[in-house]
Amino acid sequence: MGFPIPSDKIERRHYINGAFSESSDKGTFEVKSPYSHEKIVDMCEASVDDTNRAVAAAKAAFPAWSNTSPDIRSSYMKRLAGLIKQSNTELMQLDAMSMGRPVSQYFDAMFASSLFEHYAIMGYEAQGTTSLNTPGFINMTLRQPIGPVAAIIPWNVSTMMFGMKVAPALAAGCTVVLKSSEKAPLTPAKLAVLAHEAGFPPGVINVLSGYGTPSGTTLSSHMDIRLINFTGSTVTGRKIQAAAASSNLKKVVLELGGKSPALIFEDANIEKAAGETVSSLQFLMGQACVANSRIYVQETVADRFKAAFIANFKAAKKGDPLLPETQQGPQADEIQYERIKTYLKAAKEGKGTLELGGEVAQVDGKGYFIEPTVYSNVPEDEKTQKEEVFGPFVNINTFKTEAEAIEKANDTEYGLYASVYTNDLSRAMRVAKAFQSGQVGVNCTSPSSAKDMPFGGYKSSGQGREGFGYSLDEYLEVKSVYIKLDEAVR
Ligand code: NAD
Repeated sequence: MGFPIPSDKIERRHYINGAFSESSDKGTFEVKSPYSHEKIVDMCEASVDDTNRAVAAAKAAFPAWSNTSPDIRSSYMKRLAGLIKQSNTELMQLDAMSMGRPVSQYFDAMFASSLFEHYAIMGYEAQGTTSLNTPGFINMTLRQPIGPVAAIIPWNVSTMMFGMKVAPALAAGCTVVLKSSEKAPLTPAKLAVLAHEAGFPPGVINVLSGYGTPSGTTLSSHMDIRLINFTGSTVTGRKIQAAAASSNLKKVVLELGGKSPALIFEDANIEKAAGETVSSLQFLMGQACVANSRIYVQETVADRFKAAFIANFKAAKKGDPLLPETQQGPQADEIQYERIKTYLKAAKEGKGTLELGGEVAQVDGKGYFIEPTVYSNVPEDEKTQKEEVFGPFVNINTFKTEAEAIEKANDTEYGLYASVYTNDLSRAMRVAKAFQSGQVGVNCTSPSSAKDMPFGGYKSSGQGREGFGYSLDEYLEVKSVYIKLDEAVR
């Protein structure tokens, strides 16, 4: 079997200071297809030295870039937005090849492109205020770029993450070092090629491929990085925050994991709720931070909901992620697959009732596939009910009253997304207000089309917000300037 993009057409090098380069120690790591298990390419693996070179480039480029007018910054960003749009098919295929995302589920390039278009304009908003409230003074605030910043991203939505983190940083006047995930380095490396084509000055955008150690740890403890924007697991988020605290106290923005509940009340459109929550679990084969992985359904409609859910969930066509008819691809890689298997084992040994799946699967003898899996009546303290499985796996439990449902939904350290399905507006609003969660869906799961809303988590799901318009402030320092007036002009 071949790949639509052959190995010699894939960018495998780092992008540092406006040039593509191999790792200084010639280190590489293998990227394999999670579907065919064939090798795709040997990517360059960033060493400490490569990471330091990228930070030095971002530091050197910062004074000029931060003093460039929003007009100029905007023109580079609009060019990059256009190039990303034109490369939609290639980015989609690279994602399918490296982490198994079905091409039928792809929308990232268009999303990232619109982030660059949006922030190209937002750069003009980085303005301060003036105040006449102190007698004898005219005071003002200046909002200035924080400095060179780092972005560390996960593998599940890498093109979107590139846009979420790089676009606002550039608009604010910051320079960036982005480290992609070892599981999905192909799309960020392609985005570096597009940034180069867009003509950004050397050092403004730097892209590294490599592992958390040593490249990610070097970035999070680097004294010249002033902000680190991280998306990934809560475990890694804690390490990054600790490294930031013990180095230069750099600002930390964290978008972390979730164990997002969906509450289904008896007055909801049950079939619609089942269809929507299934889609949330099918998207990225359950490897989405906002997946509704804990469902609570009111006892009176539990059987009807479960039947509709299971019929829908098991119907997804498994196959080669590069084929347009495929609805379920393999999990992202062997590590992810083995990790999910430990949860299948824990579920089997637990007290819940198996309703569907519970096993691994293969298509034509290939791939890291997991059967869509449903358990019911799972005790709240079981591993699969507490931890993020990050696979096509869901527990469906029941509740009697609204108060009980809210208590169960909030009984988690996570707080990223929560859904409520009901036709009673007052109940919907009561529950939305009670959820301890950064985002709430009323009669919906997480809508990928809602671009102008902030994205982020409560509790251990993170700190800070991303999305259209909401990130700029993270990248700006606020300076107060006090101007004392002459006696004569008071
Ligand atoms: P991960 O934490 O294993 O890795 C994320 C990134 O951190 C990778 O680039 C990795 O190389 C790097 N890294 C690992 N250890 C590091 C360290 N000690 N220091 C610095 N960097 C390090 O997470 P993952 O498996 O790539 O992604 C899945 C997780 O991401 C899930 O928990 C999911 O919920 C979360 N996620 C959250 C959002 C969100 O917006 N909240 C979006 C997507 C994914």
